Amino acid sequence: MERTDVNTLGEFGLIDHLTSGFANRQSTTVLGVGDDAAIIAGGDEQIVVSTDMLVEGIHFDFTYTPLKHLGYKAVIVNLSDICAMNARPQQITVSIALSNRFSVEALDEFYAGIKAACEQYGVDLVGGDTTSSNRGLIISVTAIGRAPADRITRRSGAKVGDLVCVTGSLGGAYLGLQLLEREKQVFLDNPDMQPDMGEYAPTLLARQLRPEARTDMVDTFAKEGIVPTSMIDISDGLASELFHICKASGVGAIIEESGVPISNDAQLQALEFNLDPITCALSGGEDYELLFTIDPKDTEKIRFLPDIYIAGEIVAREDGVKLHTKGGNIHEITAQGWNHFE
Ligand code: ADP
Ligand code: MG
Repeated sequence: MERTDVNTLGEFGLIDHLTSGFANRQSTTVLGVGDDAAIIAGGDEQIVVSTDMLVEGIHFDFTYTPLKHLGYKAVIVNLSDICAMNARPQQITVSIALSNRFSVEALDEFYAGIKAACEQYGVDLVGGDTTSSNRGLIISVTAIGRAPADRITRRSGAKVGDLVCVTGSLGGAYLGLQLLEREKQVFLDNPDMQPDMGEYAPTLLARQLRPEARTDMVDTFAKEGIVPTSMIDISDGLASELFHICKASGVGAIIEESGVPISNDAQLQALEFNLDPITCALSGGEDYELLFTIDPKDTEKIRFLPDIYIAGEIVAREDGVKLHTKGGNIHEITAQGWNHFE
């Protein structure tokens, strides 16, 4: 028997490999595998469904992740996928596999975070599953949302000439994680040391430990009469998400370094770590902001909206995916970030 290591396919190659043999048989399946959420016909409105799994030691580390924050974030990452479809989240299910290391009190903390997210976003916890694991905690959350069919936004609708926009600011969650990892290392080397996170920690740690989902943007689009031509949430970094949009839409893109929003705290922290802030924005994940494209006719509608930044333009596929730096150079963007040496 042949044995192929899953690493040879990569995450997205593996998903393709496993799912490409499945045909959709139901006329109610409007969109299956391949976007931030599936789309299911449901009368006047369509239903969107998204699932994510978080595994202890891979996605979170109890050395610095409070249980309540973990519960909150586990919900947020799923609500963010619903927002990426320009839909409103309404229900979640939560499934957990846990080892006997966890007490009822610990799980109460975790569920307090889930509850806080449900209250903050007005979503209902409607089910789940509870089972045991040999080691550690595994969390799977499914989110269900709705939107009128003509407002739902896929990854695949970007057209040449569309503006590329980003909400909020990028790189902060990644820098927050770097701070936590640095102080974890200090602690492991010398348990008597008090953590010193530095002056930018309050905002950056909040970005990492307690992200928010941009449901407010879904409301803004509805209020302003805008339907983005494509959209994705930024869970893996701007570069990777831009590649998903370009691939699904069959286009290229040019990003202006000066148009990518990075907070002051993130800029200063990046410099302290000797990192290039734009690299943190392109390659650092977990900001859960939205990357979307709009038809240029909507430019005036979004130009003055708070917390939305025009970061670039969609170009022909042959023109590739590129970064125009502040220094005036053009670099190829790769899914991992951008290549300094071109
Ligand atoms: P996101 O980062 O937005 O959560 P993913 O990259 O995890 O999305 O998934 C991409 C697409 O592949 C989604 O449509 C998702 O539902 C689907 N998918 C991921 N893993 C599997 C799997 N094991 N079986 C079927 N579909 C999957
Ligand atoms: Mg997503």
